[in-house]
Amino acid sequence: MHELIVSPFLDHHLILRPGNSAGLKVPEHRYVELRDAAESGSPVPDWLCRPALRQWGVELNGQSASTALLVRGRPPYEYGRASYEVNMACNWECPHCYLGLKEDAGMEWEDREKVLHILRDAGVLWLQITGGEPTIDRQFPAVYSLAYDLGMMIEVLTNGSRLHNPLLLRLLTERRPYRLTLSLYGATEESYDRLTQRRGAWKAFRRGVDAALDAGLPVELSVIVTRDNEHEIDAMYELARVFGVRTREYNNMTPTYFGSGETLSTQALTRGNQRGVFTGCDAGHTSLHVDPLGMASICKVARDKQIPLLAEGLAGLAKLGGIADKALLRQGGCSGCQLSEQCSTCMPLAQRYRQADAPLGSYCQHSPKEVTTP
Ligand code: SF4
Ligand code: SF4
Repeated sequence: MHELIVSPFLDHHLILRPGNSAGLKVPEHRYVELRDAAESGSPVPDWLCRPALRQWGVELNGQSASTALLVRGRPPYEYGRASYEVNMACNWECPHCYLGLKEDAGMEWEDREKVLHILRDAGVLWLQITGGEPTIDRQFPAVYSLAYDLGMMIEVLTNGSRLHNPLLLRLLTERRPYRLTLSLYGATEESYDRLTQRRGAWKAFRRGVDAALDAGLPVELSVIVTRDNEHEIDAMYELARVFGVRTREYNNMTPTYFGSGETLSTQALTRGNQRGVFTGCDAGHTSLHVDPLGMASICKVARDKQIPLLAEGLAGLAKLGGIADKALLRQGGCSGCQLSEQCSTCMPLAQRYRQADAPLGSYCQHSPKEVTTP
């Protein structure tokens, strides 16, 4: 198995160690040198051995570049990042979930294989594997292993409920993700099980997070703040402190990705709209999203126009940039808006709020009286 990944990434050339988010940036001629060394089976050059030992503690001296390095080719696109939703199914039932019904559907293995190869060929270096709950998908281990073996740096978004499983732990320790992001839905059994609408969810989370931490996996927490658990915010952060992990907070509840609004009533009362001003987004140009059926979109929210990757292959991605440019243009109720420069909501998200008949205060800078025709 490769020790390091050597890859173009946008305008740069990176050397990365799977399971570790710190990397080295090298000039193009160094990339070419490593590519040639890997092709010819020469030893890893000295100039890389020393920093690799210092940065990651990996001894490459005397190793052949063809086995120690996985050198990625120069892609035809600049899609450095992607998220792949392996299956929307989940074993929990959180009412704030933007996936709504969470249908249990995914592709056959051969099709998943094709999609992963397309993502690799498109240049995807950083892959987020998500769901639903991805670890309950039967093919999660195969998807994860192949993505890793194709030279992608992997993050898994999970509720943690299956992480105590020895087979899963073995997979993740042998092929380390650079980040394992667990959602935190409360700080006590009572609130956790209530929010997730599953008895035993808290216990499963605790077993999972403890197992992952014991195994030395790079755990981080998404602290999810909703109406149901906001009384435990301090306790949730205390828990993260005890675990010794980094956190990110999610407290803006959005409509579902198809624009229904049942999720919005879960908004925490003590947390308002904390999104900063929207200053642009590179979705569809340097990143993309793939759903369980292999449909590519610019991101998880903007799925109106999708590209069927299985039918169109790598070439289909040529359309994604144009789709993104149109999706992000202020339109409909936002066209001509004088406040758009101060707005915190991108166009695709504003469309979901409108579809959901959400209160203006949850996404728009206009007061109800001002919103006649922006
Ligand atoms: S939801 Fe909006 S800001 Fe987020 S990735 Fe999509 S287009 Fe960009
Ligand atoms: S302030 Fe409201 S109307 Fe203006 S761009 Fe933002 S969401 Fe659209």
